[in-house]
Amino acid sequence: MHIVVVGGGVVGMATAYELNRRGHSVTLLERHAVAGNETSRANAAQRSYGVVYPWADPAMVFKAIPWILKQDGPLKLRFPPSVETLRFMVSTLRYAWSPGLFGLNRRAMLRLGIHSRERFLALEHELELAFDGDHRGLLHLASTPDALEGYRATQELLSELNIPSRLLTPEQVREAEPGMVGNGPLHGALSYDTDGTGDCHKFSRELAKACEAKGVAVRYNVEAEKLIADDHKVSAISLSNGDGAMETLEADAFVISAGCWSNHLVQPLGLQLPIYPVKGYSLTVPMTDPDRGPTSTIHDDNYKVVSTRLGNRLRATGFVELADFNRDIPEARLATIRKSVESRFPGCADLDAAETWTGFRPMTPDGPAIIGRGPRENLYLNTGHGTFGWTLSAGSADLIAQIIDGEEPSICLDAFRPGRFQE
Ligand SMILES: Cc1cc2nc3c(=O)[nH]c(=O)nc-3n(C[C@H](O)[C@H](O)[C@H](O)COP(=O)(O)OP(=O)(O)OC[C@H]3O[C@@H](n4cnc5c(N)ncnc54)[C@H](O)[C@@H]3O)c2cc1C
Repeated sequence: MHIVVVGGGVVGMATAYELNRRGHSVTLLERHAVAGNETSRANAAQRSYGVVYPWADPAMVFKAIPWILKQDGPLKLRFPPSVETLRFMVSTLRYAWSPGLFGLNRRAMLRLGIHSRERFLALEHELELAFDGDHRGLLHLASTPDALEGYRATQELLSELNIPSRLLTPEQVREAEPGMVGNGPLHGALSYDTDGTGDCHKFSRELAKACEAKGVAVRYNVEAEKLIADDHKVSAISLSNGDGAMETLEADAFVISAGCWSNHLVQPLGLQLPIYPVKGYSLTVPMTDPDRGPTSTIHDDNYKVVSTRLGNRLRATGFVELADFNRDIPEARLATIRKSVESRFPGCADLDAAETWTGFRPMTPDGPAIIGRGPRENLYLNTGHGTFGWTLSAGSADLIAQIIDGEEPSICLDAFRPGRFQE
């Protein structure tokens, strides 16, 4: 089959790779000049298979207002909120308060996480990709005794799903992370032993090169404008090239992996994808003293900032902000991220010299991604991965390829069904 994939972020690129591996002829369309240049560019770099959870968390509802009001709080809301922001917030509340839904969705995402880890290991065996990737575990620090208590319940769920984890004392944390000599409060940590890291942007670009070497037609600087369809099938997609010329590309099947920009392609065919851009920020900087930096990836629950080692670089990331597609980077956000790093890994890098970035998590109001058949028989969706698209890219790509080939998916995909927002 000839299959067109729209979107050259990590999810679209992994999808193109899986489809090519299965013998399909694949064309990937990306409007930027390189792969992974939007949300996949400078995220927190965690492949956090054991951490994945839905955005619509009932526990979050009560924390949200204090978090918005606190100066260094991790949740921010731009005032006045737009209609789209308010609609997204109301919808999130509705899902958060649906009895039992959070638990079901969390388990479904964790199962996808387990599958994704397996697919990453296979892919890294199949291809030699240089992306500062590692699987050296992930630590969730507990800055209060209550946080540590909460991790006990998490650990029960993880053992139910056979995901290895350990509760660490402060001494064990410092042994695992000798560079962590800062004065931030520490009562222990939950260690996700099989989780990993990696530069998502480098991975996307390396995978694009591998795909091209295997015969995928990766077309940059083209914008997919419109799907051309009758009541049953999509026959073609119209594109505009960099020079503004229009073109129509026919194919047997189409996969939409356009992240935050997926809805406008699918909505005209009758399916609304309520994906909202949840903003975050990061700093990336070479470490001046790598021994004083993290050995893997650390989630500091005090500021909700993640510090990750990528080779000899440090990536520090934070904030969940509802501000539509606003690309400003306020100094106050960067100052909080720097404060968190300094409180854990003082002196590891010159944080003032860091490269700064902002990006948008393609978030669904309940949390799970959108994976499955779309509103026409040959239209497929692998999008809306929110906070965990890097982690879940390899697994979701395999699953959408299974669906396209008419196979039973390796895991149950009920939580990810595209039509759930209209039920
Ligand atoms: C601050 C922050 C930290 C994060 N940390 C982590 C983390 O540690 N671990 C993790 O797993 N995830 C993390 N994420 C989430 C993760 O980055 C995203 O889920 C993931 O990158 C989404 O990938 P994607 O391919 O779906 O979207 P994108 O990377 O946005 O790719 C979509 C692509 O489609 C292209 N496109 C869109 N419309 C069109 C069109 N019409 N025609 C042609 N091309 C089009 C875009 O140009 C873009 O390249 C984080 C996100 C943020 C913002």
